[in-house]
Amino acid sequence: MENCIFCKIVAKQIPSDAIYEDEDLLAFKDIHPAAPVHFLIIPKLHLATLADAKPEHAELLGKMLELAPKLAQQQGCGVTKNADGGHIGGYKTLINTGPDGGQEVYHLHMHVIGGSKRNRD
Ligand code: AMP
Ligand code: ZN
Repeated sequence: MENCIFCKIVAKQIPSDAIYEDEDLLAFKDIHPAAPVHFLIIPKLHLATLADAKPEHAELLGKMLELAPKLAQQQGCGVTKNADGGHIGGYKTLINTGPDGGQEVYHLHMHVIGGSKRNRD
């Protein structure tokens, strides 16, 4: 898609701090991190918003959700368990959709935002 900044990142026309790539997805660090860990997972396919996803994109959306915990773990904010079996660590997953949803870049992306809760809220 012409003039889409994330399509340009996929095409390597502009640089990104990439942390993962496969045939369908790319993940890279957010240029304005809102927390100690903040990266974006995008489909290589240009979909402007989540609302543009069709049933045939269900597998792609599933891949994005499945990847988030793996990359969060690698980036140091995964969920683990303490000695008592309680959960520790963690992150937010966020998809802003449309102007009222706070979407600024119109190429579907999922934020993964983690690290210390104290620095995040
Ligand atoms: P959203 O409001 O959900 O559309 O968020 C767009 C996000 O993309 C923001 O958090 C920006 O900081 C981030 N962003 C914009 N341009 C770039 C870029 N070139 N590389 C990395 N992140 C970017
Ligand atoms: Zn795009």
